[in-house]
Amino acid sequence: MSASHSTTGTLDLDDLRGRTSGAVVTPGDPRYDELRTIVLGGIDPQPAVIVRPVDDADVVAAVGFARDAGLTLAVRGGGHSGAGHGTADGGLVVDLRERRGIDVDPAARTAWVEAGATAGEVAVATSAHGLAVGFGDTGSVGVAGITLGGGVGYLSRAHGLSVDNLLAADVVLADGRVVRADAEQHPELFWALRGGGGNLGVVTRLQFRLHPLDGVTGGILVLPATAGTVAGVVAASLDAPEHLGTILNVMPCPPMPFVPADVHGRLVVMAMLCWSGPADEAEAALAPFRSLAEPLADLVRPVAYPELFPPADPEYHPVAVTRTLMLDHVDLPLAERVLERLSSVDGMRVVQLRPLGGAIARVPSDATAYAHRGSRLMGNVATFVQGDDRAQRTAWVEKTLALLDQGDPGVYVNFLGDEGPERVRAAYPGATWDRLAAVKAQYDPGNLFRRNQNVPPAG
Ligand SMILES: Cc1cc2nc3c(=O)[nH]c(=O)nc-3n(C[C@H](O)[C@H](O)[C@H](O)COP(=O)(O)OP(=O)(O)OC[C@H]3O[C@@H](n4cnc5c(N)ncnc54)[C@H](O)[C@@H]3O)c2cc1C
Repeated sequence: MSASHSTTGTLDLDDLRGRTSGAVVTPGDPRYDELRTIVLGGIDPQPAVIVRPVDDADVVAAVGFARDAGLTLAVRGGGHSGAGHGTADGGLVVDLRERRGIDVDPAARTAWVEAGATAGEVAVATSAHGLAVGFGDTGSVGVAGITLGGGVGYLSRAHGLSVDNLLAADVVLADGRVVRADAEQHPELFWALRGGGGNLGVVTRLQFRLHPLDGVTGGILVLPATAGTVAGVVAASLDAPEHLGTILNVMPCPPMPFVPADVHGRLVVMAMLCWSGPADEAEAALAPFRSLAEPLADLVRPVAYPELFPPADPEYHPVAVTRTLMLDHVDLPLAERVLERLSSVDGMRVVQLRPLGGAIARVPSDATAYAHRGSRLMGNVATFVQGDDRAQRTAWVEKTLALLDQGDPGVYVNFLGDEGPERVRAAYPGATWDRLAAVKAQYDPGNLFRRNQNVPPAG
């Protein structure tokens, strides 16, 4: 295989291929460009080698190869990392997308899911049994990537974060061991996996607790953007029964066919609503939202849960500036200032608010490495970069974030971009950081798994 040697210097890829059943893809391979692409736009990553494991032995071989060759090791599932961590220039990418088996046990209400599956695929597989576990708002996000950071979505107030429903995980460690982490086996590792991101190893399978869910009443409610509707949707969401999940986007209205054309481009409140409680209580739960203003569009209706996830667009590669924070409330004056900020620039920009609480807040802060249990709202500010205006866009995002800052120092690790160690530190407040660093020192003392929101090993 001299071609491989010539494109990757001194790497002995024949040795790697000899130990791997799955594909080993290098520059020049017809699939290389397709496989190296991640969701994040504006970058052109050129990994030295992409390994596509079909079993745990392949993962062990890839991890060992990267470790021994001194290659940066990236782990890729759904490819949605906003920091581009699902790839590594000149490094080795463990691409788990060949491993997406889903095994539902309807009687036990559990499912084993291979780490390359997407959130949408799990929703479809479990929904066939009238069961569900919550991930986020996007079906194409990888199930391991979202779970290892926390997993905040439509069902979180009712059933907790994705990590709160994680029962066990199989992990390939830096030294090549394959272990199962759960409440009894490697309990500290299991604690760390539930929020610690990709720091601990390559997770190959995850077991989830499932909840009965025979459809939901959900979809998009578009309201005119006023201080009253912004603050009103937040308040109604926080006051709602826990089976009501909301993700609120304040943004220019996209050219959606179900919204009148004269609204396109105007600021709107786009409330993504999901009622997962008893069907006959849906109308009462949704009434406070519908009464805030005459809706510009109301697509909230009884649907199968997987229908909430729009189809994936493989051509979606946004070049964006995003920042995230936790906050406590949005009153009318703050909502007014948010609208002023959004009116001060053009292009795609959004302030997103995610009401938390409910089952999320009932878990003690030290029970998992996701520790922001008391935070009531998660906020995200984003705008698309146009040409060479990244610096101006960044300044706009940071000033808007400052407006929302109410002194909660926490951030959600899965919404961080490449923002530096201080921001990663903020994802793991207080004793969480020290405990995570101690687990890291035990399971990955050499920091092989550092292409992530990195927690260096203690000491
Ligand atoms: C459009 C969009 C919508 C989103 N919506 C939500 C949402 O509603 N709720 C929410 O909570 N988050 C959401 N996220 C954030 C998302 O959860 C994180 O970006 C997550 O890390 C993506 O996982 P992935 O597998 O798709 O990405 P990848 O880029 O493939 O992986 C991201 C990182 O996760 C780690 N990782 C992934 N798989 C493994 C594994 N098997 N073993 C060890 N480490 C692994 C690695 O560190 C990797 O670098 C969204 C992101 C985007 C871009």
